[in-house]
Amino acid sequence: MKQVITRFPPSPTGFLHVGNARTAVFNWLYARHMQGKFVLRIEDTDRQRSTQKAIDVIFESLEWLGIDWDEGPFYQTQRLDIYNEYLEKLIQSGHAYYCTCTPEEIEAMRKKAMASGGKPRYDGTCRDKDLAKTENAVVRFKAPQVGTTVVEDVIKGNIVFQNDELDDFVLVRGDGIPTYNFAVVIDDITMNVNTVIRGDDHVMNTPKQMLIYKAVSSPLPVFGHVPMVLGKDRTRFSKRHGAVSVTAYRDMGYLPDAMLNYLVRLGWSHGDQEFFSRDELINVFDIEHIGRSAGVFDPEKLLALNADHIQATPTVELFKPLSPFLIKHGINIEEGPDAQSVIETLKPRSKTLKDMAEQAIFYYADDITYEEQAAQKFLKPAALEPMRVLTDQLEVLGEFTEKNLEDAFKATMEQTGLKLGKIAQPVRVALTGKTASPGIFEIISIIGKDRVISRLKKAICFIEGLDG
Ligand code: GLU
Repeated sequence: MKQVITRFPPSPTGFLHVGNARTAVFNWLYARHMQGKFVLRIEDTDRQRSTQKAIDVIFESLEWLGIDWDEGPFYQTQRLDIYNEYLEKLIQSGHAYYCTCTPEEIEAMRKKAMASGGKPRYDGTCRDKDLAKTENAVVRFKAPQVGTTVVEDVIKGNIVFQNDELDDFVLVRGDGIPTYNFAVVIDDITMNVNTVIRGDDHVMNTPKQMLIYKAVSSPLPVFGHVPMVLGKDRTRFSKRHGAVSVTAYRDMGYLPDAMLNYLVRLGWSHGDQEFFSRDELINVFDIEHIGRSAGVFDPEKLLALNADHIQATPTVELFKPLSPFLIKHGINIEEGPDAQSVIETLKPRSKTLKDMAEQAIFYYADDITYEEQAAQKFLKPAALEPMRVLTDQLEVLGEFTEKNLEDAFKATMEQTGLKLGKIAQPVRVALTGKTASPGIFEIISIIGKDRVISRLKKAICFIEGLDG
């Protein structure tokens, strides 16, 4: 069997939309699953709208998602000679011709066609004139006027197009720049792409592309058109629904594996399994199970999946992605409690890395700020005695262990006649500033003796200050 070669050809005109990223993911996974190749091509022929910044964002987004490519990046603007070569062949073989109709004339044709109830189209004025190349002349494809073109779509099934619906579409514009339909075909042919999975917003283009393949006698690739990603209101997923760029999710603290997992599940299924590791996806991904109905992007589902991925990721692997979020809070994990232990306590409680970094602040902070309500409720005169007793107990302990911390709390309970909760809650506020945190013994042992005692003393002063 021939080696599978897939591709991702984004147009660099803005950020990388999650819908487009999903197309990249499908093609990449399929190539990896089939031990084939994945080609990256930048479709930058729209010179007005293409920017270097958008190209950089594409690389950044793919790298973050862990999508690597075997060939490319190719740039269409650097391949004009190749398109010209094929164009010459098409003109020579009578499949394409120069057209000198002016934009005004074309506009008039379109209006006329619409006035008589048809689709706006080119009327074929230059089709049989055999015109020579002149300045600003465009090249049109001589499309068949009868018969049908059938797209054998591996996702949607056969889609039949009437050829008389197609007009003689433009291959190369007056400025020498190829149109999308022409460049994409020549690229896919010359890059040996044999599997094209893309958004179904392109399905109308596919018959035109098939005609070009036929005209240059090249075998067709396998086509599969995936339904668009929708928002909850079932319109195309856009800013109105939430963040749409891949990098926005990176910046919000999502894990690339979670994003990958979510994007795949938006249009593909494997029984009712929701959680997949990257390797598992490479193992089981196939085209057959890409669905025909549109996936609805649900930010809450993604968030829950991200939490599951955080939980499943080995702690050491979280250091690197977490670190930019910690840095934002001025946290240097070299200075302070053991990061491994810190992350372990936060993993089950974090939905995003951003969330995890926020929760980590108290471990590293030199100075704890109390949440107002937490302080009001728990840092009250009634807490003075248990906090003082506990501080005395802790001061005489050697290294903190779960066992001796438990003993210290027990002794405090005995001396004060209070239940654990009455002691633990004010202590928690003293140590974290908040009423919720990982287990009290855990955080005490991670924060370490010196910091714990100094925080308890500070809280005692705080309460005494209230008194005074
Ligand atoms: N540049 C096109 C796009 O981004 C590529 C479409 C295709 O995959 O053929 O929509």
